[in-house]
Amino acid sequence: MTTPKPQSRRLHGAMFKLPLMITCGEFEAFIMDYLDGSLPTIKRAVFKMHLFLCMDCQRYLAAYERSIALGKAAFDDPNDPVPADVPEDLVQAILAAKKAE
Ligand SMILES: [Zn+2]
Repeated sequence: MTTPKPQSRRLHGAMFKLPLMITCGEFEAFIMDYLDGSLPTIKRAVFKMHLFLCMDCQRYLAAYERSIALGKAAFDDPNDPVPADVPEDLVQAILAAKKAE
């Protein structure tokens, strides 16, 4: 059994009772940093621990990653042809706005 570091005294909620556990809310707050790789190593481990134990957050992260992938696919290449279901007058309005810039 390892002794928690003094800084863990400042942690709240579930983490206070269970060292190295975070709440679902904290998990959610870490997702962006986790995905772009800027989450510090210790938080990353804590994040993964929560992910391993929490079905809700597994689902949440999967949905989050899916929506990011969809967003990227939609905006990857601005020169992609406009999807067929975009109304023609909207396309014209956007082109007109671009010319006006
Ligand atoms: Zn959770």
